[in-house]
Amino acid sequence: AIEFRHVSKSYGDFSVLQDLNLQIAAGEVVVICGPSGSGKSTLIRTINRLENYEYGDILIAGQTTRTLRQRQLQVLRAGIGFVFQQFNLYAHLSARDNITLALRQVLGVNRDDARQRADALLAKVGLPDKADHFPAQLSGGQQQRVAIARTLAMQPSILLFDEPTSALDPEMIAEVLAVMRQLTHTGITMLVVTHEMGFARELADRIVFMDQGQILEVATPEQFFTQPAHPRAQRFLQQIL
Ligand code: ATP
Ligand code: MG
Repeated sequence: AIEFRHVSKSYGDFSVLQDLNLQIAAGEVVVICGPSGSGKSTLIRTINRLENYEYGDILIAGQTTRTLRQRQLQVLRAGIGFVFQQFNLYAHLSARDNITLALRQVLGVNRDDARQRADALLAKVGLPDKADHFPAQLSGGQQQRVAIARTLAMQPSILLFDEPTSALDPEMIAEVLAVMRQLTHTGITMLVVTHEMGFARELADRIVFMDQGQILEVATPEQFFTQPAHPRAQRFLQQIL
């Protein structure tokens, strides 16, 4: 479970997160949407403290993340997967080695076991024959699936996605969404920043709508897409649907 309690953050006079309150249950799939600059990336990046926050508290499984020391922060991050818009694979490592790296270095898994786990995960994301390919030899959609496999290797209980399909051509979006769809059935808590409203409507348990650093609406997809309560959410949906 993840809990935001009165979380605020600013850059000088600019308030990027304003008094956020949100509770996400274990296993829940939550989509975060809102206009550009509304604070979506900042919100999810605060969860594993890629961004610090100044006020309030974020609790993960009941534990504050506010006062973590470096070592505890590493433990927290090992249990939280983060999938970025730009994949962030290591260019000089094969798909397999991208996946085994943290397994070996962070979890201390031996070479053969790490390799087996990597190959099993590559099969799971539909890339059983790409283990020896380097990122430059893979399409964007394939790279993103390797990035997801790499994240899954750490067996996270929470997965954070920041616009995972926004850098992809339309035909590749579907293959990445298909992998994400599989993950929604695994009990991993998922927070997904996305403009893919089809995914949101079909697979989210709840939708969080943000604007100007605030959470303006939290609703089921049914409520959000048929009768959004907040005027700003109504306008947002008119623009994108
Ligand atoms: P997008 O949909 O474009 O990705 P977003 O909702 O993810 O937008 P954030 O990246 O969280 O938005 O940024 C929220 C706001 O904070 C933006 O107005 C941005 O310009 C501002 N911001 C982000 N990082 C900094 C920074 N380091 N210094 C000052 N302002 C920042
Ligand atoms: Mg963003």
